[in-house]
Amino acid sequence: MKALRLTKIGEPLELQEVARPAVGGRDVLVRVEAAGICHSDVHYRAGTSPVGPLPQSLGHEVAGVVEQVGPQVADVAVGDRVCVHYLLTCGDCYYCTLGSEQFCVHGRMIGKHVDGGYAEYIAVPARSTVPLPEEVPFAHGAVLMCSAATSFHALRKTRLAPGESVAVFGAGGLGMAAIQLARALGAFDVYAVDINADKLRLAERYGAVPVDASQGDPVAQIQRLTDGRGVDVALELIGLPQTMRQAVQSLAIFGRAGLVGITDQPFDVYSYTELIGKEAEVIGCADHLRHELDLLVEFARRGALDLSDVVTDTVGLDAAAVNEALDRLERFGGQVRTVILPTGSGR
Ligand SMILES: [Zn+2]
Ligand SMILES: [Zn+2]
Repeated sequence: MKALRLTKIGEPLELQEVARPAVGGRDVLVRVEAAGICHSDVHYRAGTSPVGPLPQSLGHEVAGVVEQVGPQVADVAVGDRVCVHYLLTCGDCYYCTLGSEQFCVHGRMIGKHVDGGYAEYIAVPARSTVPLPEEVPFAHGAVLMCSAATSFHALRKTRLAPGESVAVFGAGGLGMAAIQLARALGAFDVYAVDINADKLRLAERYGAVPVDASQGDPVAQIQRLTDGRGVDVALELIGLPQTMRQAVQSLAIFGRAGLVGITDQPFDVYSYTELIGKEAEVIGCADHLRHELDLLVEFARRGALDLSDVVTDTVGLDAAAVNEALDRLERFGGQVRTVILPTGSGR
């Protein structure tokens, strides 16, 4: 089969002919119909995030059709439409038993530690597949498995309750999903904070109140918009100390700040005025869980989560086109999302 592989850090991906993956007793072979090109893939190719062993097929946002099942697979059948949970977990360790498998001590990620979905086929454990209904296109199913899933997990971690208010810092792919999901979960007022006018316009179309941080302090704007109360939940999706600090400063009494964006820089928190005096919380939100993905797909099926403005571009399993899409992401960031359609259909 054909696969787009990273053979050397810092070099373009190469289209290679490789053997179809072997299908173990509890595995399924998925014919890839869609594989999202993610900002993480840019980091893997550039060597700014660890990846390996090489050569390796990238691609951790995958949807397709089951082509073959192992002899011990009972709940997944040939012909099923599925998405793939990118984390391969053992199911037996302490954290897996807790249902917190993102901390599995044997956890590995497809397209990072093992071959991913930039290929015609991928083999994964049957329990890593998520049923994908007809109403949700493969391209959307693939993208749901990464950024949207992370936003959903963050809203659950921050315990968003109906009627509460939410501020979303960063109106990119994660933000657009967070806005829609917050509203679907019953948030009354959702504020989208960004400095990019196009992103703020799109956020507004999804029902958020735009807060343009290029036009003045977003914390002051949020305080004004909430009559000085602040928001119940603030999600930081960018990974900057400055916006992490702003997320904490935007909180109401009993407010929860969910940190999703990644940085190695610290940020300041005034313990008394910003946390203790408000009984406010700062919560780290890492990845997402397999059982959250069924719910997420159902939100998409019901139209509560629409990705048609997020998936902007499609390409074939073509080295030049995919490397170019990665270059674009590297230069311009995550404003647009390209999805690889190896068979060309994507439906
Ligand atoms: Zn991703
Ligand atoms: Zn485990």
